[in-house]
Amino acid sequence: MLRELGLRSTSGEMSLSGRGESGLSGREDEQLMREGAAVRRGRGVRLGVLGWPVAHSRSPAMHNAALQALRVEGWRYQLLPVPGSLLEQTVAALPGAGFLGANVTIPHKQAALALADEASETAREIGAANTLIFRSDGTSRAENTDAPGLLACLPGRESGESALVLGAGGSGRAAAWALSRAGWRVMVWNRTESRARQMAQQLGVRAVRTPVAADLLVNCTSVGLAGDETEDAALNQIALSADQLRRYRYVADLVYSTQQTPLLAAAARQGAATIDGVEILVRQGALSFELWTGLAPPLDVMRAAARTGWR
Ligand code: NAP
Repeated sequence: MLRELGLRSTSGEMSLSGRGESGLSGREDEQLMREGAAVRRGRGVRLGVLGWPVAHSRSPAMHNAALQALRVEGWRYQLLPVPGSLLEQTVAALPGAGFLGANVTIPHKQAALALADEASETAREIGAANTLIFRSDGTSRAENTDAPGLLACLPGRESGESALVLGAGGSGRAAAWALSRAGWRVMVWNRTESRARQMAQQLGVRAVRTPVAADLLVNCTSVGLAGDETEDAALNQIALSADQLRRYRYVADLVYSTQQTPLLAAAARQGAATIDGVEILVRQGALSFELWTGLAPPLDVMRAAARTGWR
């Protein structure tokens, strides 16, 4: 899975040449693999998700279920609620406390990239990291699995050519970057137009003043997160009406809550194929899991845990 998406795991199985994109030599990778094997035999290994607030995260449920399903004993994934003012010192202390890696969520994705000793090309180009990997020598590497995770659950380029991204925040940037790299003709709409223009210029995509027709619509705004808006009120905030959703064959919503989001409910009624935020969460989580463990992630187990919130 990682290889298809251009990522590589700590086990080094994707290391086709002497020194890969991570900068690790084959020998360093072997050492990591030996350490991985050692911890799998019982030494405690910790993983977690850094965010503020982060109590709502379904990542612990998803990762702990995967570790349990693969009988990876002694590993545990936990919430790491950390305010911005404590991020740097917390990240510095994590390896010493037994952490092999961490996911990073709002509002720390940009800061995590800046704190890491090195970063993948994907993380650098997007300007944000959602995954940290701590090495035995105390150095850290930043990855971004949001972008390839999103691509993994969207239709392929054979299904269409144009994509409209709503939102110019961190996830909008990752989505526009990933879709553009995958060959989609990408347009970006944002409530604050100047942010859309700036992002479009940086990523080589097109900013639009109103949401235009496209094969694929990807909502990367936080509209729908509150869970208590009416459909009309939610759609109004992203400058769309239910009827206009007919113009999109596929509609993906990064937002997830306990019920279907207003956007996906309206899009499904208009006949669009829908992709929800839980599936997108599962795919990025699966790639992070593979980076840390070198093991093939049990997608069905992770999906079921993320949907039920098992912890
Ligand atoms: P962010 O960087 O804070 O960006 C928020 C975006 O939402 C901005 O474009 C902002 O527009 C827009 N926005 C906020 N309130 C709005 C409103 N009332 N009306 C219209 N637009 C509004 O956040 P992010 O990291 O991109 O995350 C966005 C959402 O995606 C969050 O809900 C997050 O939970 C979700 N997410 C899900 C996954 C997943 O795995 N499923 C992964 C990442 C993110 P302005 O520029 O005008 O403020």
